[in-house]
Amino acid sequence: MEKTEIIGLTRDELTAKLKEVGFEAFRAKQIWHWIYVKGVTDFTQMTSIAKNQHALLAEYFSLARPKISRALTSVDGTRKWLLEMPDANKVETVFIPETDRGALCVSSQVGCTLTCTFCHTGTMPLVRNLTAADIIGQVLIARDGLEEWNKRREDCLFTNIVMMGMGEPLYNYDNVAKALQVIMDGEGIAISKRRITLSTSGVVPMIERCGKELGVNLAISLHAVRDELRDVIVPINKKYPIAQLLKACREYPAANNARRITFEYVMLKGVNDSDADARELVKLLDGIHAKVNLIPFNPWPGAPYECSSKNRIRAFAEIVNNAGFSSPVRATRGQDIFAACGQLKSDSERKKGQKVIL
Ligand code: SAH
Ligand code: SF4
Repeated sequence: MEKTEIIGLTRDELTAKLKEVGFEAFRAKQIWHWIYVKGVTDFTQMTSIAKNQHALLAEYFSLARPKISRALTSVDGTRKWLLEMPDANKVETVFIPETDRGALCVSSQVGCTLTCTFCHTGTMPLVRNLTAADIIGQVLIARDGLEEWNKRREDCLFTNIVMMGMGEPLYNYDNVAKALQVIMDGEGIAISKRRITLSTSGVVPMIERCGKELGVNLAISLHAVRDELRDVIVPINKKYPIAQLLKACREYPAANNARRITFEYVMLKGVNDSDADARELVKLLDGIHAKVNLIPFNPWPGAPYECSSKNRIRAFAEIVNNAGFSSPVRATRGQDIFAACGQLKSDSERKKGQKVIL
């Protein structure tokens, strides 16, 4: 009989599965706590549960995590894990520490169906969607690596999650939503929706649902202010053009003055970085609770772009800033271990003839 993987189940699902083999609801709560607060990886470590029950749990359930294929630490402290999933596919997860906080950049797919021209992941075909277990697994591996289980919140550096790794999270909504529900569960990992940001290239029909059901912060990969250019560099724009995307942002249920939508804008030399582009950006964002995040383009082998100069980025930021939008330039982190934005790519390949259902 195949064992039930516990990682990836919601608390209600786990409670129901445990009930089938005779465990009462309070046991499910204890087991959840052992896994998601204490970080145990083996049933025998669950000391509040009788020893003879450990074998029963191990007979029916598994607590497997993804395998670490490679772990790297940058000179700036950024950590990257290349993880191998049970079917041998690989994804990357990156932890970016700051002085009193830190964010884990989580992947949602192996590869991506979209082909943004400046993004390394976009050169990979979509191999498959990650399951909820694969997504939660990334968080567990990071907590293990940072040794932050069972600690007081103020002693932890891993405080935030950004769904900004490989893949388009809103093209894998169900699994992403389930994983985030587990991650947000107050009896477990308990990272609040205010500390989670989901980045999308603009899957307009899913944006409202994301706000209503998950209530997480939204980031939009805008990158261009005219449809002709965005059609090329963010090709999903041909399906959902800028006006439709911004309408969905205006109506985003979880945005307000205190929780602004982040507009990500990669600075590509001579492509999207003129003063006129900056002024147009300001016009487009009028009336949206917005902030702008300028991302220096991170090169990868064979990339067809260069990063704008420091002065150009500064001038662009000033125009946006003067119009009243905060516009920090995102620091490039983990470049020596190839962990910066848009550099994630694994060597997973789609098997010949394998269909991907979206
Ligand atoms: N698919 C989602 C989330 C993953 S990409 C999305 O596109 O939003 C996370 C961010 O990194 C996006 O804003 C993306 O546009 C940006 N990015 C991709 N390639 C980059 C590169 N080479 N340099 C800098 N940022 C890049
Ligand atoms: Fe996919 Fe995002 Fe990269 Fe575009 S930027 S190819 S949507 S991962």
